Amino acid sequence: MFASAVFAYRIWVQAPAIERSLLKVSEQELVALNFAFEQMSKPLHTINYDYAVWDRTYSYMKSNSVADKRYYEQHEYPDDTFKSLKVDGVFIFDNQNNVVFNKGFRHNSEHEKLQFDLMNFAESPENKLLSPLNKIALPPQEHPFSHPSSVPTKSGLIATKYGPALYNSSSILQSDRTGPIMGYIVFIRLIDEEFMAELSKYTAAGIEMSVVTASDDVAQIPYLGADFELTKLHAISERLVRNIDGQPLIKFTLYHTDAEPSPILGSDIYILLAEMSVLLLLAYYLYSYFLVHPVRKLAVDIEEMAKSREIKKLKHRYPITELVNVATHFNALMGTIQEQTKQLNEQVYIDKLTNIPNRRGFEQRLETYCQLLARQQIGFTLIIADVDHFKEYNDTLGHLAGDEALVKVAQTLSQQFYRADDICARFGGEEFIMLYRDIPDEPLQRKLDAMLQSFEDLAFPHPSSKTAKYVTVSLGVCKVLAVEDFEFKSDANIIGRQAALLADKALYQAKACGRNQYKKVSLLIDEIEALESNHPSARP
Ligand code: GH3
Ligand code: MG
Ligand code: MG
Repeated sequence: MFASAVFAYRIWVQAPAIERSLLKVSEQELVALNFAFEQMSKPLHTINYDYAVWDRTYSYMKSNSVADKRYYEQHEYPDDTFKSLKVDGVFIFDNQNNVVFNKGFRHNSEHEKLQFDLMNFAESPENKLLSPLNKIALPPQEHPFSHPSSVPTKSGLIATKYGPALYNSSSILQSDRTGPIMGYIVFIRLIDEEFMAELSKYTAAGIEMSVVTASDDVAQIPYLGADFELTKLHAISERLVRNIDGQPLIKFTLYHTDAEPSPILGSDIYILLAEMSVLLLLAYYLYSYFLVHPVRKLAVDIEEMAKSREIKKLKHRYPITELVNVATHFNALMGTIQEQTKQLNEQVYIDKLTNIPNRRGFEQRLETYCQLLARQQIGFTLIIADVDHFKEYNDTLGHLAGDEALVKVAQTLSQQFYRADDICARFGGEEFIMLYRDIPDEPLQRKLDAMLQSFEDLAFPHPSSKTAKYVTVSLGVCKVLAVEDFEFKSDANIIGRQAALLADKALYQAKACGRNQYKKVSLLIDEIEALESNHPSARP
């Protein structure tokens, strides 16, 4: 977009402005050529006028003395005069256009005499127009050399056998400009290399002169002095100059100094574009580094979190304050969610009534214990407790009281399970299930005794119990033991299942033997697979 803007500016604003100023320069060069040509013709006019309106010339014309005439001719027109005045030909005519005197000398040579035949009117009748009294009508703007004077005078270009020449002709008058006109005097200067060199000094542009030939399409070429306004840039401009008879004689070719419009794709444009590209890249880099990249990173982090369903805080350091704020708020939100998730998870594993782990919590722990036993030979003890005569308790004191009693039982049993590895859970109804990890016989014995004792100590009344006056429990205990070098290959969960089954059986015995007591069995890990194949379905 930026490049297009630069090109558009270049094409529609800058390039036309440059072209306009180049056109002005070209026009100025044409004006300069015109001015130069005028300047070059001025001296010829001045000296021609001086000689024409001069008493000596006037006397010369009036005199009948051949000697006087010769004297004038020799003294006023020696070779040196040609050299110093830069004149190549002098012609004096009487009023009848008869040549009275003529001399040709190449002013910039040492001795070269020139034989002009300007006065051969039979051959070149147009040369009669040399007389300042004979004028032809030309468009006014094409009169480059208009000399304000009351003396009839004329100037312009004339073809000679030595090439085109500048001429100036003035009527011969007395120096006070009185008396009748005694003819006219013509000075010419050849338009040679020297002339062109002098002309070029006035113009910065190069100029060439050529004689108009038949191949020149003169209709298409304007005349010098007319039409300076250019509409289009050209490398060259051509201008015609008329012969004395009004026909085109010579053609100036002007080589404009700066005709080439600057290219649309110049080095300056490339530099500008390169600079702007670098700036844009830098801006994009900064934009990308400080905004796009961190926002993308933030999005990716959140997306990954969503995919892994893992709630964690964002660790990435963001480079802009707004994103740091977003991350901070996001992390605060994640903290809340983490907390809520934790609570939710705990609730899933906690029994609502007794506020101790529920069966799900127990099974999770049992699974870990089974793994430890199967892989690391670490034994455990599983205990099932069942409240004695609880149906009667409910029946006698009501269900709500039953609930309260269950809470008490849970608290009482839990007192014996304070190590982090041990667990006491409500298995369901009025049954509780417990685990001790790697407990030797004696301490286990003490724990079991302490458990029964704690109910006696609690002495929570049970009016309808046949066993005691207070709430009692019966316990079924299964101690699961590791066997040295035995490799347990089956699913570790069957250990828990068989242990529970045996504990249940032990509980049944405890009940049968009068309740408020425990029965204990042991189970070796190498027996489990066989038991499982006999009794595959068991609790839990
Ligand atoms: P035993 O000594 O043989 O265990 O006799 P029992 O009456 O305790 O055993 P039974 O299985 O016949 O009765 C269990 C009773 O426990 C039945 C039920 O009403 C009561 N019970 C189970 N869950 C709850 C509970 O959440 N709240 C209350 N209040 N009672 C419950
Ligand atoms: Mg029961
Ligand atoms: Mg019971």
